[in-house]
Amino acid sequence: MQAKKIQVQGLVQGVGFRPFIYRIAVSQCLKGWVENNNEGVNILVQGDLKNMNSFIQSIQAEAPEASHISAVKITDTRPGSFKDFFIKKSKDSSEEITEVSPDIAVCDACLQDMKEQPHRIDYPFINCTNCGPRFTIIRDLPYDRPKTSMQAFPMCEKCSAEYSNILDRRFHAQPVACNHCGPVYELHIDGRVVSEFDSIIKTTARLIEKGNIIAMKGLGGFHLACDALNEEAVNKLRINKNRDGKPFAVMFRNIETVKKYTSLTENEEKELLSWRRPIVLLTAEKDLAPGVSVGFNTIGGMLPYLPLHYLLFEQLELDVIVLTSGNIADEPIIIENQQATEFLGPVSDAILLNNRDIYMRADDSIVRIINKKPRLIRRSRSWVPRPVKLKLEVDGILACGAELVNCFCIGKGKQAILSQHIGDLKNAETLEFYTESIGRFKRLFRMEPELVVHDLHPDYLSSRYASGLGLKTIAVQHHHAHIASCMAEYGIDEKVIGISFDGVGLGTDGHIWGGEFMLCDLATFERMTFFDYVPMPGGDQATKEPWRMALSYLIKTYGDEYKKLKLPFLKDIPDDAIAILEQAIKIKLNTPLTSSAGRLFDAVAAISGLCKHASFHAEAPMRLESIIEPGEEDHYAFSIGETINTGPIIEGVCRDVEQGIAVSRISARFHNSVINIIFAAVEKIAAEYGVRKVVMSGGSFQNKYILEHAENGLTNRGFRVYTPVNIPANDGGIALGQLAIAAARRRREQGTEEQGIRNKE
Ligand code: ZN
Ligand code: ZN
Ligand code: FE
Repeated sequence: MQAKKIQVQGLVQGVGFRPFIYRIAVSQCLKGWVENNNEGVNILVQGDLKNMNSFIQSIQAEAPEASHISAVKITDTRPGSFKDFFIKKSKDSSEEITEVSPDIAVCDACLQDMKEQPHRIDYPFINCTNCGPRFTIIRDLPYDRPKTSMQAFPMCEKCSAEYSNILDRRFHAQPVACNHCGPVYELHIDGRVVSEFDSIIKTTARLIEKGNIIAMKGLGGFHLACDALNEEAVNKLRINKNRDGKPFAVMFRNIETVKKYTSLTENEEKELLSWRRPIVLLTAEKDLAPGVSVGFNTIGGMLPYLPLHYLLFEQLELDVIVLTSGNIADEPIIIENQQATEFLGPVSDAILLNNRDIYMRADDSIVRIINKKPRLIRRSRSWVPRPVKLKLEVDGILACGAELVNCFCIGKGKQAILSQHIGDLKNAETLEFYTESIGRFKRLFRMEPELVVHDLHPDYLSSRYASGLGLKTIAVQHHHAHIASCMAEYGIDEKVIGISFDGVGLGTDGHIWGGEFMLCDLATFERMTFFDYVPMPGGDQATKEPWRMALSYLIKTYGDEYKKLKLPFLKDIPDDAIAILEQAIKIKLNTPLTSSAGRLFDAVAAISGLCKHASFHAEAPMRLESIIEPGEEDHYAFSIGETINTGPIIEGVCRDVEQGIAVSRISARFHNSVINIIFAAVEKIAAEYGVRKVVMSGGSFQNKYILEHAENGLTNRGFRVYTPVNIPANDGGIALGQLAIAAARRRREQGTEEQGIRNKE
């Protein structure tokens, strides 16, 4: 008899790993134990060497889908006297946090059971230890059935036998249920209720095929669905839900179908098929209804992740449906049946409800592969509440985030727990979701904030919320937070060159920043250089009307002479609108100064005639990016002194427009200019300060062309480059940066205190 100690590192907690180890150990007649520890799972096994080897092989080969093994370390040890194999009780209660798993897409074994197990034939709530709802149904810790919204469904005898049998795939699967005892769907249509599942699913399929809109209760909230090839249905959906001009996400039948519509890369395929099943931004090959992608060459696609989705596609003759958040305009995704009936009822042709409550709201997450890495654009379903492991102590800190695509973040020990995507904190409904979620996170993770950190902008609802708590607060500059967010992701705690490009963020000088080069560490920053200030006529209104930024840049560059330029876009702007704007700039009326990169993109998009009015956030930069001519290497001139003079870029763009150069080429040249500015500014700062690590973050780095070229170019120039992967580059990542900055400042303060005490002694 031999014995081995095995340490499995990686993402192995809260994903049914210990019962899995138990099962394979018992099946190989091994004795010993398994336990969770700080770095993963520890195992001691003893028995026959051959069995032990098969056991070790199975660890890697058969691991639960939601787990990720980064290392398996095996050492020989002395056999002990064990009667059997058992799961050691955990000693540490802080471990409970990691037990809150994100939601997991239905697994293959369950899909199989759905065809074979008599009590689960076509059962749309099937799940097991390896899959199913988690975060969205949890009320409190420890994660046990009575503390989830499955509490309302007492297990039948069969389910309960499976639940208690450690050799069963459903051992301690808290949401376990079947046709006899679990939640059920109901289809509400024209005042009728259909409750027989087979006819629910068939009716739903027929309705969608005929161009109707269906509201469906999903995992983290309601969806609205319709035929993605039916332009009339898609347009009706857009009008009904009062949705802005953003593209809609779609769900494809399967990976083969995705390949028909997109040029799928290997990395994209991997993301689509992962247990997290995010929306992945793909390159379109074949058109969906024009109202889905609204002129973009990308498709936000995902694959079925609920049993319901699979069952629906079995009945549907369509290969792809629009599947968009069930909400009205910018309000949070609806999760309650009653609200769905009230608000989604009038905008849909039928509602598919179920009686399992959603406790934690979670939108679909969004990923885009850039430079071969999957970058999170929206971190929500199936990521939350997985903690981000940090190198510094963040306990007791609450970071409130910014305004747009808000997320908040709480600190627990050395872990940061980011909230799900909350949304744009601009209306009462979103604010309510925000405050309610902070309350729930505090309770769920047993965290009482003692230090609150918020954006420098005092008028953000998140900043007001922070001030209203009556606790110690810290205000943090927006772009410093962007950089710190990426530093936290990589565990960087030293001086770096930080590049932060985005739409808007308040600067320490009262102006609106957004094209920033900084020298910073986690606690402090120094602004090195930035895009020349230019007036932002009408303040926020300028973000919706890129023509305003175009005019502002033209006036800054040419003065009154700009009127002599032959720029077609100017003809579309009413003379009086132009006159009012000129006057406003002259007398400095509601024209804050900005260094924003996003606004520069706006200006170029408008001058080149591509986008004068934005129908959704960041439309102009996105359109500009989507038409870049591949292979174009030219760029416009610029100069870097104290600040970055963008005048020559505007001159270059105007010259090209007047000469009738294609917009796609102008776009490429403009993008190349921005990339070259990055190279030049970084070289200059590095030469002066000797710093070789570069961190880039901010919404503009969701631009694939800029990020890829800047990342590769700087790397080739010998810099160590860090860019966001697991944390959004947009304002959804701000809270993590705020948390890290607050922690670093607290550490510094405590350090000086200790120093003071020591000096006294
Ligand atoms: Zn399963
Ligand atoms: Zn049952
Ligand atoms: Fe930002």
